[in-house]
Amino acid sequence: MLGRQIKDATTKSRHEKCMLCDKPGGFCNSHTIPQFCLENIAWNGKLNSFNTLIASELLSKDSGVNNAATFHIICRPCDSKVFQDYEKAEAYDTVPSETALNQIVLKTSLRDIYKHETEIELFEASKQMVKEKQPLLSLMVAPIINAQIKARTRDIEECYEIFRKAKGYLITPNNWLKVVSYDKLDYTVPIAFQGMVALVTGMNGEVINDNFNHKKNYKIEYLHLAVFPLKGATAVMLFLDSENKRYSQFEKSIVNVTLEKRLEIINRIIMLYAEDYFLSKQLEDETLKQLEASAQTLQDLLTSNPNKSLKNAVKDYDLRREICIPNLFLRDYAVKFDD
Ligand SMILES: [Zn+2]
Repeated sequence: MLGRQIKDATTKSRHEKCMLCDKPGGFCNSHTIPQFCLENIAWNGKLNSFNTLIASELLSKDSGVNNAATFHIICRPCDSKVFQDYEKAEAYDTVPSETALNQIVLKTSLRDIYKHETEIELFEASKQMVKEKQPLLSLMVAPIINAQIKARTRDIEECYEIFRKAKGYLITPNNWLKVVSYDKLDYTVPIAFQGMVALVTGMNGEVINDNFNHKKNYKIEYLHLAVFPLKGATAVMLFLDSENKRYSQFEKSIVNVTLEKRLEIINRIIMLYAEDYFLSKQLEDETLKQLEASAQTLQDLLTSNPNKSLKNAVKDYDLRREICIPNLFLRDYAVKFDD
């Protein structure tokens, strides 16, 4: 039944018109991570996704290149016109232009809006289902589900703000984005990722985002990440809204470590904070098992003591902590090409 709910939630879209041109209907299957990047790590057109790691029976375990990280809230003409600067390999010969970075942010925000809206549909549906089938259990479960809905609602508001900013800067970006680091590797890593994360803490135990602060004027600050596998190369970039101030310590630290250490930290950030990365089918089962453990780290949203929860979160997400996560950015894991 839950499987059907997921399907319903993902096919239901509350949008009536394209988010970019306002023309009604006709949404297309848009991708976040450029397809040419996914093709570089795919095997027979298939990829491993986060669902492989959590071994969910409800969601399909592997993703095809065609339906990886897709969303349906913009029209085909916009999808093929607006993102051209970032969806080509040449964009990453050197540090990508701000136009390309702005397009990454725009697409990420659209995908996240769609993702969170779908999650809310799903939570609402499960709440209704429990209420009908198990009224007593519902009394216990409803507050947990409501907390999730509240958190997602806030995420959506933040995403809309980022979306509006990026859309406004489509023609003239005007230095609103700042590149923190750009590394070009001479091998293809087995992971592709594009997204934004709200770091709880950086590399010195400092608080960057207090997720337990629900005051209206408290703004979550996001870090944008893109890991694009190319043919025999990889582009790895971190960038952010130049108005963000809480990352200053992290920015200094991450550029002052060795490339190897930086990649290790970026690997860790993706494993701890993200869930929509794609992995090469060439990775060994044992590596996937080790990644599984870190994928299951989840944050507690329901708390009676926000200060204590923040302290725990800073400890759990400490980027300096010695934990065993396979570093997929090591050359040992590089994708091998036949030709
Ligand atoms: Zn459109």
